Amino acid sequence: MPTLNGTDLGLFPTMGVGSYASPSWLIATRRALRAGTAGPADVEEAIQDAVKMAVWDQEEAGLDILTDGEIRRQRFLWNVVEKLSGLNMVRAQRKLGIMSYDSAPRFETTERVSAPDGFGLVDEFTFVQAQTDKPLKVCCPGPLTIAMPIRLQAGYPQGDYLPLLYDLAELVNKELRGVVAAGATFIQLDEPSAVGREPALSIEETVKLFNTTLEGVEAKIALHVCFGNNQGRPAMKRTYKPLFPGILDVKVDQFALEFANREMAELALWSQYGDDREFAAGVIDVKSMYLETAEDVAERIRLTLEHVHPEKLYLTCDCGFSASSRNLARAKLGALVAGAQLVRREVSGA
Ligand SMILES: [Zn+2]
Repeated sequence: MPTLNGTDLGLFPTMGVGSYASPSWLIATRRALRAGTAGPADVEEAIQDAVKMAVWDQEEAGLDILTDGEIRRQRFLWNVVEKLSGLNMVRAQRKLGIMSYDSAPRFETTERVSAPDGFGLVDEFTFVQAQTDKPLKVCCPGPLTIAMPIRLQAGYPQGDYLPLLYDLAELVNKELRGVVAAGATFIQLDEPSAVGREPALSIEETVKLFNTTLEGVEAKIALHVCFGNNQGRPAMKRTYKPLFPGILDVKVDQFALEFANREMAELALWSQYGDDREFAAGVIDVKSMYLETAEDVAERIRLTLEHVHPEKLYLTCDCGFSASSRNLARAKLGALVAGAQLVRREVSGA
């Protein structure tokens, strides 16, 4: 049976992937800061309230494992990139019309990157830990993802991303060791760019990079690989086939993958190549406005059980809720838990 910190989680533990929906008043407060009608202390107060709200919504939904909702991290990784020194921000190339992946600022290296004050995960963890007695998961973007908006200029050989990626791997590793030392027992490395995104790496190079990133991090570790979620739109070709079976050489305890948005396609990859490690299946489509019923979710879980051992199965969402409204995110978490309950009853024969 799945356990965490020695606690029996029961069948099909439920959890979000990481980010939770920002409430409207936090977005409004951040906007007011940019307009000069709110101060940094107003934003900090709103952030702390929003983390408490994220915990409250997850507890109310009945999730087994919580996160802090990554409330501090705008656009998933900006607050991590902002903590790096050795980068110069370049304005977005396109700001008018429909927002897309090129509507965000880029960064150019001015020297080798470093993070003199870390990424702030320890403070995030310490704060959320004080808000709940439930098991917690701490998520961190990996080096491939952090490198996505960075272009090589000074400090690195032109055209060769590996030195930058390994510098980032070292910084992430230090951050993860720090958060584990602070008491975190469940870490998730987020690498939505592991599939078909620049800088392109072979699966062997990708695995080596991930294992370096996770070396000596003494916790339960999950790897989340999805296809991107910018305002509900993926950025990559939505297939895991190029990753298997090579990705299994990453030294993690759990793989958290996206399925609901793809009508549960490619689950058979796990029957074909999977081992006895844990499998967290995305059974909630965070990129769709359609609100799943409990039976929709149960149907997805039953399909997953054709390929995954029940005692190894965790239930999650395809990705985070950073591009969702709070009311929809809250309702979808409710559907996740209700669907899990239906199938738990079927499996236990109750
Ligand atoms: Zn994701």
